[in-house]
Amino acid sequence: MTSTPATPTAAEVRELATHAEELAAAIDNLAGVLSQADPQGRAGFRLPDAAGLVRQAAYELLETACDLRPAYRLFTFCSMGWGVCPEHGSTLIAAGGTTHCATPGCGRTWGYRREIAPCAELATHRLIDIAGETLLCAGHAVDARNSGGRVEPFTP
Ligand SMILES: [Zn+2]
Ligand SMILES: [Zn+2]
Repeated sequence: MTSTPATPTAAEVRELATHAEELAAAIDNLAGVLSQADPQGRAGFRLPDAAGLVRQAAYELLETACDLRPAYRLFTFCSMGWGVCPEHGSTLIAAGGTTHCATPGCGRTWGYRREIAPCAELATHRLIDIAGETLLCAGHAVDARNSGGRVEPFTP
């Protein structure tokens, strides 16, 4: 890094936010694995907080991207009020305070009740119906497609 840094673009900041989201998801996953290995939860008790802090960072990064490029505003998060598996859709099963995907071979686990928490994934698709457009993450797009909805890729 010898050259003068270029001004970051909104897209670059948004990409950082995506990395932070992925990190938060990885921490959730770790929390889930640890809570299964150690049901008393001593080893993993800090992780939900850690995931929350990283999600907060992702949110602030997204806000920054929106400040740099106002067109990003309102076009960021999935608008569904419950969580799904980012790959398989409505396949979540709750057990205790954790949630896992029931799809064989998926293995995703979250250290919180993801299926009742508002979806916090980034919007990657939109569902088009008579009511207009609804922004969806990849997992909710799978569901919408499975139920016959018209789903298109979405880029802010
Ligand atoms: Zn899955
Ligand atoms: Zn979603």
